[in-house]
Amino acid sequence: MEFGLLGEKLSHSLSPQIHNAFGTSNYKLIEVAPSALDEFFFKKEFAGLNVTIPYKKTVLKYCARLDKSAEKLKNVNTLKLEADGTYTGYNTDYFGFLYLLKYHNIDVSNKKAVVLGSGGASATVQAVLNDLGARVTVVSRNGEFNYGNLELNFDAQVIINATPVGMFPNNFSSPLELNGFYQLEAVVDLIYNPLKTKLLLDAERLNVKAVNGLIMLVAQAKKAEEIFLNAQIDDSKIFDVYKNLLDECQNIVLIGMPGCGKSTVARLLSANLNKKLVDIDALVEAKCNSTIPEIFERNGEEFFRDLESEATHEAGKMLSSVIATGGGAVKRKSNIFALKQNGYLVFLNRDVNELCTAGRPLSSSKEKLLTLFAEREPLYRKYCDCIVDVCATANKTVDAVVAAVSKGGIL
Ligand code: NAP
Repeated sequence: MEFGLLGEKLSHSLSPQIHNAFGTSNYKLIEVAPSALDEFFFKKEFAGLNVTIPYKKTVLKYCARLDKSAEKLKNVNTLKLEADGTYTGYNTDYFGFLYLLKYHNIDVSNKKAVVLGSGGASATVQAVLNDLGARVTVVSRNGEFNYGNLELNFDAQVIINATPVGMFPNNFSSPLELNGFYQLEAVVDLIYNPLKTKLLLDAERLNVKAVNGLIMLVAQAKKAEEIFLNAQIDDSKIFDVYKNLLDECQNIVLIGMPGCGKSTVARLLSANLNKKLVDIDALVEAKCNSTIPEIFERNGEEFFRDLESEATHEAGKMLSSVIATGGGAVKRKSNIFALKQNGYLVFLNRDVNELCTAGRPLSSSKEKLLTLFAEREPLYRKYCDCIVDVCATANKTVDAVVAAVSKGGIL
C-alpha cells in the first residue's frame, strides 16, 4: 500500500523527502480537485495520508473516528486506513508546534502571544499556546484586533505568523512591521520557504529571536510516520532529518571583490555539494546577450545594477543553490535581504594585491582597484555570515568554505 500528501496544488512540497527519511519510501504527492474528493476516498488506495491546504477541514467527513487533537481542533492533517476499511483522522500539527517551541527554547507561559491569521494552523497554534499558559490574542484581517489597530497589541512578547503572507513565490511581503513592539522576545513564522521570511529577517535586525516552521514540519511528519508504521520513532531522529533538510535547502552565497575567485569556487562547490550553480553575472549577461564590460560601456553602471538586483532577487528565492554574486552586489541593501532569506553568506577574502583585474570595468587599474576595495571591503565584512580566506588552490578554498558552512549555517 502507498502513502502520500493530499492537497489541491502541491508543486513545492518537501513532504516526500521528509517521509522517505523517516522510512516510508512509497510516498506520493496527490493532487485532487475538490469535486473529485468523494471518488478519491471511495477508492481507499492509500494506507496513510497527510492532508494540506485546503482540505484539513474537508476531510473530517471521511473519518470514521478522530483522535483527541483532531476532535478538539476540528482539523485533520493525517489519516490512517484501518483494517476495517475506515479512516481515522489525527492532528499531528499540534505536536509539531509544541515541538517547535521546545526545540527553540521559546517559553510562552504567562507571556502575551499574538497569533496572525485565523485559519487552520492558527487554531492549532492557539490551542498549544493556551495549553502552555500563554495569554493569546488573534490578529485577523476582519477581527476585533486587526492590522489597522496593531498598536493595541504592541505589548506582545511573542508573535506567531500563521498566515501565508511572505511565502514563496511572494517572498518579499510581510504581514506587519515590527517597529512598535517594545517587549518582543521571539517571532515564529510557520512558513519554511523561504527559510527566513521578511518578517523573520526584520526580527533578526531587531535582535529578536527569529524561528521558521521547518522543525514543525519535520516533527509533525515524525508523528504521522509513527501512526502510519504503528511504531515509536525516537525524537532525536527529528533533529537528524531537520539538519539534513536544512543543509540541502540552504544556499551558499559567495560575496567578495571582483577577481577573488567566486565563480570558480562556486562551480566546484556546486559539483561537490550537488547544489545548483547560479552565477549572477552570467544571469545578467544572458538577460542582455552582452558581456558585462559591454553593458557598462553601452548603458552605464546604474543600468547594470538594476539588472543585477533583478537577477539577485530571482536567485535569492531559489533553494539548494550555490550563488556567485557580482562584486558590487553588496552596494544595495535589498540585494542582501534577497540573498539572506535562503542563504549563508560567505565572504571570500583575497589579498588585494592578488586580485585579478582583467575584464573588470570598475577595477581595470591598480588605483581603481584600491579605491573599490576601500569602499566595499567593510560592506563584505558587515553583511557576511563568515569569512573564508582564499587558499593556494581553488579546491582548498572549497574545503575551507564547506568547513565554515558546516560550522555555521543559516539557522
Ligand atoms: P489557512 O487555513 O488558509 O489560513 C490562513 C489564514 O491567514 C487565513 O485564515 C487568514 O486569516 C490569513 N490570511 C490569508 N491570506 C492573507 C493575506 N493576504 N493577508 C493577511 N492574512 C491572510 O492556511 P493554514 O493552513 O492555516 O496555513 C497558514 C500558513 O501556515 C501557511 O503558510 C502554511 O504553509 C503554514 N503552515 C505551516 C506548517 C508547518 O508545519 N510549518 C503547518 C501548517 C501550516 P484572517 O482572515 O483571520 O486574516
